[in-house]
Amino acid sequence: MSPPFDGCPALVLNADFRPLSYFPLSLWSWQETVKAVFLDRVNIISHYDRTVRSQQLTMRLPSVISLKEYVPSNRRPAFTRFNVFLRDRFTCQYCGKPFPTHELTFDHVIPRCRGGRTSWDNVVTSCSACNLAKGSRLPHQCGMHPRQAAFAPTVYELQENGRHFPPTFLHSSWRDFLIYGQETEPADLQAELVEEENGHGFPSSMTSAQYWGAELDQG
Ligand SMILES: [Zn+2]
Repeated sequence: MSPPFDGCPALVLNADFRPLSYFPLSLWSWQETVKAVFLDRVNIISHYDRTVRSQQLTMRLPSVISLKEYVPSNRRPAFTRFNVFLRDRFTCQYCGKPFPTHELTFDHVIPRCRGGRTSWDNVVTSCSACNLAKGSRLPHQCGMHPRQAAFAPTVYELQENGRHFPPTFLHSSWRDFLIYGQETEPADLQAELVEEENGHGFPSSMTSAQYWGAELDQG
């Protein structure tokens, strides 16, 4: 029996044939995809071996589409939980170890009680143990300095970091458009390796857009 269409999302490329985003990977449901094809907003690059039928149409399900109009990505990335972790590559900035997202926290480099702000340049990713150890002390008081100074990343920098986290499912037709790790290594093998190494368990822990995409209160 064939899997349901729900398991057949389309990889969405910008008009320059690069994915709109790497992490999370830009995917549209088959319904969104078919609608965009009808509205003539996308080109179909590749297909699944599946066909959708309705009264008006019969079409092979697209597996890769590209936007007809280029979407510029020079806007500034939103200051979200997800983007802070992505900037820091899901790695504690104090002990330098990668952690699954549920074990990561934020740390205010200059604590709030000392006037530190909740902003790109004062918040870093920290594991719970390091966060607890640091407490409300200043970096020089406890000898704990972030490995990489906090900074506001560009969309490009986040995109580059996103490439290091391949999703667990990659349709074969997507591979030509994605660069993950070494080019000689099949992308799905890379995915397994990355998952084993750092236990991120993508994507189940990442699917709550409300949680991860919520803008953080700056102040
Ligand atoms: Zn740590």
